[in-house]
Amino acid sequence: MQRLMSGMRPTGALHLGNWAGALANWVTLQRSFACYFMVADWHALTTGYEDTSGLEESTAEMVMDWLSLGLDPEAAVIFRQSMVKAHAELYLLFAMVTPLGWLERVPTYKEQLRELAEREVATYGFLGYPVLQAADILAYRAEVVPVGQDQSSHVELTREIARRFNHVFGTALPEPEARLTPSPVLLGTDGRKMSKSYGNTITFRDSAQEVTAKVRGMVTDPARVRRTDPGTPEVCPVFALHRIYNPEGAEEIARGCRTAALGCVACKAMLAERLNAALEPVRERRFALTARPGLVEEVLAAGSARAAAEAEVTLGALRAAVGVR
Ligand code: SF4
Repeated sequence: MQRLMSGMRPTGALHLGNWAGALANWVTLQRSFACYFMVADWHALTTGYEDTSGLEESTAEMVMDWLSLGLDPEAAVIFRQSMVKAHAELYLLFAMVTPLGWLERVPTYKEQLRELAEREVATYGFLGYPVLQAADILAYRAEVVPVGQDQSSHVELTREIARRFNHVFGTALPEPEARLTPSPVLLGTDGRKMSKSYGNTITFRDSAQEVTAKVRGMVTDPARVRRTDPGTPEVCPVFALHRIYNPEGAEEIARGCRTAALGCVACKAMLAERLNAALEPVRERRFALTARPGLVEEVLAAGSARAAAEAEVTLGALRAAVGVR
């Protein structure tokens, strides 16, 4: 089996956008690749080092959601980055051969500096985080890295670092392939991209009542002011969710919207019902899993031990090639 590596920053409870953007794909891939799925808690420090009080809880919540949504610790290695210290050592070794210019050129770097202008992120750690990503990937000699379009430049940088390291030290690190994953941008309740930072998410932890209330409050086609006005479903975030969670009914809804035969209140009620039907099995699974105290710790401890053993193989070869202990 080819090796595959991916990670997620510990963001706490996951929402529908996380599922559409990455996790649905992970759950599928875990049966066809040797997968390493990482809680990227050191990465979270690169932009959030000033307040780390929520890290433990966010990690636990996210891993519980991973398990509830179908990630299987028997099929994939599920681990926490800071529990596998080899990542830090590899990061140090790769940092030695990575020219500064390569990091400054990463398209997301300047963009994020602007976006996060209110935080003090002009740090060494923030500039260097693509090197840490290279360490994450190369630790497992991963051949495949599933990424969204915006992350493909990081995988390219990992390939360049591997090539340069191999050239300088005569090692045989594989160059991973970015596997672009279809990750549709899911719209949140306010019509912007669904994101925790916008406060517009529907999460897997919301109760049925909460989901219904959130859907009821969703923005719709802004041009449809009165019930009798025909709407344009293509611009409506409610319809975008119908497409995913009610695919067989979407055509009829679009017709009803365009002819004003269907009102937004009824349309939203149908969506809430479909969403709750999809979320109920996840809620039930989480409920069953939370009855097993210490489960997340167990999964992370076992997964991190497996990951550490594998990363140590890589690191042993690199230490020998570099000539350090
Ligand atoms: S009827 Fe449905 S799809 Fe049309 S504008 Fe209202 S909520 Fe959106």
